[in-house]
Amino acid sequence: MDRTRWLFAGQLGPQFDDGGKILLIEARSVFGRVPMHRAKAHIILSAIRHRARSGGKRLEFHQVEDYREVVADRDDLEVIDPTSYRARRAVRAYGAHVLPSRGFVTSEADFADWVGGKKGRRLLMEDFYRWVRGREDLLMEGHSPVGGDWNYDAKNRNPPPKGATNLGLPAPWWPTEDEIDEEVRADLDKWHQDGLVTLVGDDGPRRFAVTPEEAEAALDDFIDVRLPDFGTFEDATLTNDWTMAHSLLSVPMNMGVIDPRRVVDRAVAAYEAGDAPIEAVEGFVRQIVGWRDWMWHLYWHLGERYTAANNVLHATEPVPDALWELDADAFEANCLHHTVAGVRDRGWAHHIQRLMVLGNHGLLRGLQPAELTEWFTGAFVDGTPWVMPANVVGMSQHADGGIVATKPYASGGAYIDRMSDYCGGCRFDPKKRVGEDACPFTAGYWSFLDRTERRLADNPRMKQAYAGLRRLSDREEVVEQERHRDRW
Ligand SMILES: Cc1cc2nc3c(=O)[nH]c(=O)nc-3n(C[C@H](O)[C@H](O)[C@H](O)COP(=O)(O)OP(=O)(O)OC[C@H]3O[C@@H](n4cnc5c(N)ncnc54)[C@H](O)[C@@H]3O)c2cc1C
Ligand code: SF4
Repeated sequence: MDRTRWLFAGQLGPQFDDGGKILLIEARSVFGRVPMHRAKAHIILSAIRHRARSGGKRLEFHQVEDYREVVADRDDLEVIDPTSYRARRAVRAYGAHVLPSRGFVTSEADFADWVGGKKGRRLLMEDFYRWVRGREDLLMEGHSPVGGDWNYDAKNRNPPPKGATNLGLPAPWWPTEDEIDEEVRADLDKWHQDGLVTLVGDDGPRRFAVTPEEAEAALDDFIDVRLPDFGTFEDATLTNDWTMAHSLLSVPMNMGVIDPRRVVDRAVAAYEAGDAPIEAVEGFVRQIVGWRDWMWHLYWHLGERYTAANNVLHATEPVPDALWELDADAFEANCLHHTVAGVRDRGWAHHIQRLMVLGNHGLLRGLQPAELTEWFTGAFVDGTPWVMPANVVGMSQHADGGIVATKPYASGGAYIDRMSDYCGGCRFDPKKRVGEDACPFTAGYWSFLDRTERRLADNPRMKQAYAGLRRLSDREEVVEQERHRDRW
């Protein structure tokens, strides 16, 4: 049968198009489910409409309230397996012919083979990453890693340069908006006014690539300008540098407009040409063939109930309105204020702001992990159902008891002080755990340890932390203070 390929929002690039007929549907109901960042809604609509415009006669495009209006009575559909449980259920219910998923460096079948080979042993990202490097011959010399090491963390992850307020790199490339973006903005305003969608945050100029051409331009810019510094400043934060040396490529990769393999190959080529050091390129390749693929496979491996079923630290605080509304001014702590303001303005923050500021805050304050997952998904331009569970529930909230990360990413103000310029201008003091100016991260860290002692004290990687807690002279005072804290 001459099938029509129904493409989803994460499948908009050439790697999802094998030359046949294409069906693209913009369904408004998708935007009405939970509060969503304006910039994210803009990016999704802009990507779909740009794809529709470039599709020619092979492409049929519908703008409707619900997918059902278009697909319910069709029997000619095929799909590349989509990226969420919900969408997979829907395409099967509609009787579409299902092809294996794409858009990652490794396939779901590759991962299943790798898991099978582990014979029940613990699954670790590092083992998976090395396996992929070898299998795909990425940065390899025979069976050994180029440069002799698998990991260059000792050279990477430096604090920001002393006294600097930015890395001094040119501003990143970003797209020039066109009439499609203008139309998208007007539609979103109307839908919001009519109460059909709930949008939060600002929809400033579109910063992220949504077409294959734009993604190429963003990739070129990253490889030429920021890749050489990627590793060194991977974990650093500066108030006046929202991108640092990050790639800004999660959006185009998650929208499927650029193939992650191409991104990785360009980085490796830069190393081979002598344009970027091994520590930067290895650090970057690890993010994509390691972390990105790993999080994707874990989404399926851990199962649909993973998010709802895991809350081993009994974190029950609701996500505060200030986060749902992206109200940066509700936060007095410089690190939180600045990070939330960045999310409000762009729907994006870099990894360390997500993990060590927002995630850390959620962990220390006991925010409910499933609700926090929902918040992250709606508030971030690159938030997708597959990427969040292992990142939020597993990595940042340790709510799964150690399946994804062997210890909680909890830290006090000293870490943030070392890796950023936030603390100097903050009304709190990262060294203080008691008093008016006690840092909510420093005091919150001890109070978190106190609260979770029974659950975590036997974790070998937490032994030192708990030994510190037991020596704390003012433990009770700190815990009592944090119980009543309402300013951070
Ligand atoms: C709490 C939390 C929430 C996150 N939410 C998202 C999200 O909504 N969408 C998303 O794509 N990533 C998410 N990440 C992972 C990572 O923070 C972002 O991919 C990255 O910040 C995007 O910016 P970038 O493209 O400039 O990344 P870079 O720093 O340039 O990294 C390159 C690429 O590596 C990949 N990557 C790196 N780490 C991860 C990871 N842990 N999981 C998946 N991919 C990774 C991304 O595709 C990214 O584009 C989250 C991490 C945490 C801890
Ligand atoms: S002092 Fe504490 S609250 Fe203030 S910026 Fe530093 S870590 Fe954040």
